[in-house]
Amino acid sequence: MSSERWERITCGEYEERLSIMGDHGFVYSSLTDLGGEFGEPIIETQWARDDDPDNPILKGVRHPALNGEGPDRSPCEHYFNMPKGGSR
Ligand SMILES: [Zn+2]
Repeated sequence: MSSERWERITCGEYEERLSIMGDHGFVYSSLTDLGGEFGEPIIETQWARDDDPDNPILKGVRHPALNGEGPDRSPCEHYFNMPKGGSR
């Protein structure tokens, strides 16, 4: 996974890129750990496009309160995996 180059993007950019992908986007992987079983409670979702299904290009991370009780511990984070070669 060392080839990934995640760049931080804003909430708005994340939503925009998700809507651009539309039906071509799918959940590449997701991790929900509200109980903090693997460390801090986290919800992480990675998205890929169906025309490049092996390369996740969007990632959203939330830091929920333990067991989801109460507001998130810190603001959500969003990342975009810059394609190498840069055609997209
Ligand atoms: Zn956000």
